[in-house]
Amino acid sequence: MNWNEFRETPHRRWNPLLREWVLVSPQRSQRPWLGQVAKPAAFPQIEYDPECYLCAGNARSRGLRNPAYKTTFVFDNDFAALLPDVPEGKFEKDGLIVARTERGICRVVCFSPRHDLTIPRMRPEEIRAVIDTWTDQYRELSALPWVRHVEIFENRGALMGASNPHPHCQIWANEELPNLPAREQTAMSEYRQAHDTCLLCAYLRLELESGERIVCENEGFVALAPYWAGWPFETLVLSRRHFSSFAGLNEREKNDLADILRRLTIRYDNLFETAFPYSMGFHQQPTDQSEHPEWHFHAHYFPPLLRSATVQKFMVGYELLAGPQRDITVESAAARLRNMPETHYLDRIVGDFEASAKGDVNKK
Ligand SMILES: [Zn+2]
Ligand SMILES: [Zn+2]
Ligand SMILES: [Zn+2]
Repeated sequence: MNWNEFRETPHRRWNPLLREWVLVSPQRSQRPWLGQVAKPAAFPQIEYDPECYLCAGNARSRGLRNPAYKTTFVFDNDFAALLPDVPEGKFEKDGLIVARTERGICRVVCFSPRHDLTIPRMRPEEIRAVIDTWTDQYRELSALPWVRHVEIFENRGALMGASNPHPHCQIWANEELPNLPAREQTAMSEYRQAHDTCLLCAYLRLELESGERIVCENEGFVALAPYWAGWPFETLVLSRRHFSSFAGLNEREKNDLADILRRLTIRYDNLFETAFPYSMGFHQQPTDQSEHPEWHFHAHYFPPLLRSATVQKFMVGYELLAGPQRDITVESAAARLRNMPETHYLDRIVGDFEASAKGDVNKK
């Protein structure tokens, strides 16, 4: 079959990073929706919230208080999922009931003292400060001899379980490679052995040749809807140059990363004119003190919305029991994101209002 015949035909696509199939059912995308409708996500209206435990100067739990920070602010999570001081231990019964102790450090990074800002509404230099913080944190945590993996991730919106709208992300550093990075590690490592080149460098070349899944790009980075995406508007941010972690970013690429994250998330917010919820995070080389030439720095965005600000995709039923499945094709999702304006809809409304107000003045 040629590629065009696939567009309207149920088919499976191969995810070479996780080495699994994704079921694509493009013929189903017009079915009526009678399921749950979520509340559209609104932006917080206030720059400072006296009740917010992330706002500058406010009290957190256990008698701690945030400093009057001006840019970014990092602290150890007051309710950390992982703790650094855990005695080493294991438990095993017939290879079926197995446990290992796990050490780790969980931190929170506030992106800005402004309660109402998010990445798509921050200025490039403000996002650059966040990237510098991520870089510093990666360097500091990866230097600890027992830390083998650093995960930097952001949950945005109540739909993704974010408990506080104040712009922030989390960093979890731990002793062992978690499941998904471990699977990508194996895939990239075996691809390199078999082809003597990087899996994601090779994949990016194919995507740049075709262009149909590209969302936006700059000198240092490309944001695209991966061929194997499971979530409706899932994207992958790839560096053009091959390097394996935040420690490998050069000065220009740090600005390019700020630019691409901003332009991608503005498109997301503009798509349904809402504070677009997502989980995003960076995948970087294991921090086990060895070289990882197979690793290619990248970020994944997994947004749950499907067809409007209120209709979300549920990974349930077949997805939980068999494997991921999607209805709208990756190519149509990429085209919709690509065609979004690069001015945030909230700024556009203000801009239009100012323009029309000026127009009125001119008429008089
Ligand atoms: Zn706040
Ligand atoms: Zn590469
Ligand atoms: Zn990845």
